[in-house]
Amino acid sequence: MNYTEGNRENPYTFDDYLLVRDNYNYYSDDDFLKSLIRKYVGNEFTAIDKELTALSKYVSFRWREFANTANELENHLKVTRVKHYDAHNHRIDRIERCTETEILENEIFSLGLFDPDRNTPWSRFCIMFLLYQNGEAGVMCPIACTHGLIWLMQKYEESLSKETQNILERVRKGKNGIYEIGAQFVSEIQGGSDVPANLVEAVFEESEGQDGISNCWRLYGQKFFCSAVHADYALVTAKPKGVSSSTRIAAFVVPSWLPGNKNKEIRNSYTIDRLKPKLGTAELPTAEITYNGAVAYPIGPLEKGLADVVGIVLSLSRLHVAFGMAAGALRVVREATLYSQFRTAFGVPISSFPLMLNQIEDLNKFAKRSAAGAFKVYSEFIHFGEKLITGIRELEKISDLDDRKRRFRLRELIMLQKIVVADETPKMIRKAISFFGGHGVMEDFLSLPRLHRDSMIMELWEGPRNVLLTQIHRDFQRVKDWYDPRDFVKDLLDGMNNELIEDYANKFEEIVSFDNLLKNDEITKRICRDWEDFSNNLFIAYQEQALKEVDYEETPIKFSKLLRNFKKKI
Ligand SMILES: Cc1cc2nc3c(=O)[nH]c(=O)nc-3n(C[C@H](O)[C@H](O)[C@H](O)COP(=O)(O)OP(=O)(O)OC[C@H]3O[C@@H](n4cnc5c(N)ncnc54)[C@H](O)[C@@H]3O)c2cc1C
Repeated sequence: MNYTEGNRENPYTFDDYLLVRDNYNYYSDDDFLKSLIRKYVGNEFTAIDKELTALSKYVSFRWREFANTANELENHLKVTRVKHYDAHNHRIDRIERCTETEILENEIFSLGLFDPDRNTPWSRFCIMFLLYQNGEAGVMCPIACTHGLIWLMQKYEESLSKETQNILERVRKGKNGIYEIGAQFVSEIQGGSDVPANLVEAVFEESEGQDGISNCWRLYGQKFFCSAVHADYALVTAKPKGVSSSTRIAAFVVPSWLPGNKNKEIRNSYTIDRLKPKLGTAELPTAEITYNGAVAYPIGPLEKGLADVVGIVLSLSRLHVAFGMAAGALRVVREATLYSQFRTAFGVPISSFPLMLNQIEDLNKFAKRSAAGAFKVYSEFIHFGEKLITGIRELEKISDLDDRKRRFRLRELIMLQKIVVADETPKMIRKAISFFGGHGVMEDFLSLPRLHRDSMIMELWEGPRNVLLTQIHRDFQRVKDWYDPRDFVKDLLDGMNNELIEDYANKFEEIVSFDNLLKNDEITKRICRDWEDFSNNLFIAYQEQALKEVDYEETPIKFSKLLRNFKKKI
């Protein structure tokens, strides 16, 4: 130990840590991420490697700084503001955000992620994965929502009206280099989990409205959680009046401004009533809104809205939630581990204490298995041409049983991954924060507090844990004639030790053989508790197998080596 005399000129500095942390290139310096990408993208690797190498200079430095600046406390005031009226008493409901967030959004959307002429499925995924290392940052939720909107519209591309074709073109391929943005408004005040209980009405009106439009659907009612409310379009669920499916949910795309009105700030007959002050994703405006006759265009058959929205739009968002957090975890764990090697206590680096060594190991494994699992699940999505099937009934139309089972596994994996990664990430970030001691909760010292707040939100949106656990369990009741739960586990964990697979298969069979999780009695409570624990264990086993398949030879990150290298470079 190095006990010295007091020194009023305390020379302590964090500069070496900052030098390493802030010069680290998220892609070029991360051999693990490269190995993961190499394993999955096949012969696209050369092209994707080149693209990520160039893009990572923006993501790791310029865009990281924008995300940090937007998160400064004084900017929070700017990022959650709605201006309801202009100076001349016109209702405009203008969303005002921090300039850095706006630049970030423009630059990221200009990548044309969903433009088939600019990206392949794998390049799109790898870019999004890299971007998520900066957290949600006020941009990635709109990216996820735009993804969902485009994918749903693509499903019905052949039958889209002229207006909706035009909308699809603008969000997917852009116009004059500007790619427009989508949002999704499903949740209402009475509940977000129970979408069929939505009350927003859609009415087909022949007469001409004040906006000059006739013979169109119009929406009336309130939506209570509207993220990315600054977007150009929203995918909205509503119940259509006067049709045989009037009690069922339909899906509509609703422009925020009718053509020619965006510059005039005349919204499409709806008001933004209030912005919500949130714990996380604070750079992103989430609002409560009221439709007063907004022009809305149906997407797909009216009676299929619920299946389409849940099966395509929410499933895609669930993928985003999980791979986004997995990407963020790589950064969180890296920054915490580097700090633990830089920081000393009692004369030694804190990373040398056995208690810390275990924690570093846990975090490292968590981040890598989450990333590997995310790539493996997404590779299944890509295997099916990035197309999702909307429900069990559709699935049962697939005659090839192997194919049907594989599709079913993807459906279940998307839900499982979402709940497990969303459950683990806040705990893991909290642990990573503890490496920094008191500095860990200082907003201007590091990004982990922001990422931690964001991770809390991920648990809640796009299907809270209980809702998805119930859904997965119910799915197994519905497919039991053609997919034995034991076979499901065996197929899912293929490649793992057979004894372990047997254990998992036994446990899962026991849980699924209990046919109803909605009874309020002791035995159901016990099964529910088992299911909660088991769902985590099962998906973590899948992630571990995915990590093994990457065949990555671990070379632990070394603060001193990076410091030497970056100093030389500078
Ligand atoms: C920051 C943020 C942004 C959001 N942005 C959007 C958005 O842009 N668009 C949008 O449509 N929504 C959005 N949401 C809403 C989100 O999707 C809902 O909060 C979510 O669907 C849950 O709905 P709820 O809040 O009404 O909770 P409730 O539905 O009231 O659920 C409350 C609790 O009951 C549990 N529960 C419900 N059903 C069951 C069941 N069958 N079995 C066991 N437990 C159950 C749930 O797990 C949950 O824990 C956002 C939410 C947040 C926090």
